[in-house]
Amino acid sequence: MSLQKVIVTGGMGYIGSHTIVELINAGYHPIIIDNLSNSDRSVLEGLEAITGVKVPFEEIDLSDSKSTAQIFSKHADAIGVIHFAALKAVGESVEQPIRYYKNNIGSLVNVLEAMANLKIENFIFSSSCTVYGQPEKLPVTELSPTQPAISPYGNTKQVGEEIIRETCSTKSSELHTISLRYFNPIGAHNSALIGELPLGIPNNLLPYITQTAIGIREQLSVFGSDYNTPDGTAIRDYIHVVDLAEAHVVALTRLIQKQNKSNYEVFNLGTGQGNSVLEVIQSFEKTTGEKVNYKIVDRRPGDVEAVYADTTYAREELGWATKRNLDEMTASAWAWEKKLRG
Ligand code: NAD
Ligand code: UDP
Repeated sequence: MSLQKVIVTGGMGYIGSHTIVELINAGYHPIIIDNLSNSDRSVLEGLEAITGVKVPFEEIDLSDSKSTAQIFSKHADAIGVIHFAALKAVGESVEQPIRYYKNNIGSLVNVLEAMANLKIENFIFSSSCTVYGQPEKLPVTELSPTQPAISPYGNTKQVGEEIIRETCSTKSSELHTISLRYFNPIGAHNSALIGELPLGIPNNLLPYITQTAIGIREQLSVFGSDYNTPDGTAIRDYIHVVDLAEAHVVALTRLIQKQNKSNYEVFNLGTGQGNSVLEVIQSFEKTTGEKVNYKIVDRRPGDVEAVYADTTYAREELGWATKRNLDEMTASAWAWEKKLRG
């Protein structure tokens, strides 16, 4: 067991909390930094119940450079940083671009500065398949061209990647980074003790499905049935959040063990399989026995028709592949929804 200290920003959030569990399982010693802007302190109880570990938590806003420097110096012995902290609501970012740039870009810059000052070298960045826009060729590889972002949120991922790439390429930099481009993370830990906690009306498909099935929302709107896909609804690469969490541990370990091929690497994290909106609903109905009340409506502006990952590079280089299928994703999301409302 290594017991190396790892700083996890945004570790109280959806993907962060699942990653904390896998870091502990792998023998790391995670420290959470989060401002609880989109998460709840009760996550700590779920983490302790699953792992038996009281995970240290620092409540600060990473867009504040002074507090960031202060907290990082307290944990200067950390071997690496996994940076999840960001605001992520696409629609909201269109309404409040400055807030998104200040929070997401400001936090990233503060974290990179604190790391450089303390000579913490290993960095994992949460990026997104939104950088590919609507790809001309499917599946998308890491070398597929990126497209101009269609929202300030998407732009914070593109600019974020650029800031890191430029930082890594300077002669004096000791930074080693892996940017992980997530496809569509869904599902929850199989204990149903942690999961996604959407504030207000969910934007994402699966939380909307589970909330409709449990009676909080009246009806799910299926956005568009006239896409050029087999059933007409849009296609995404849904990935179980625990598979995604495991990939973070593999990527971090790659950097710590100096197995990276360059000091800036990018990996797609998906299953390689595309599923339509209707297929997700069908899987949910099959695994839970619940009916989803849904209606087909117009396309949602800005949505791409289809995107799914080429997983070859992650499989060959990281030695990582997903293990959990769509039915396990929808079933675990339902178990979590029932637990939340229980
Ligand atoms: P989340 O909102 O559940 O978690 C993010 C956490 O960061 C929250 O706990 C929030 O309180 C915290 N945070 C935000 N701003 C902060 C700040 N200034 N200081 C300190 N803490 C702050 O989101 P998530 O779904 O777990 O996403 C994690 C990361 O993955 C984000 O960077 C997101 O953009 C990225 N991502 C998510 C998805 C997805 O579908 N969930 C897809 C692609 C990329
Ligand atoms: N979607 C839908 N109804 C909803 C939410 C989403 O039909 O209430 C569709 C959306 O149009 C997209 C897919 O589900 O095709 C995944 O959407 P989500 O917002 O979860 O992820 P993203 O658009 O970021 O890929």
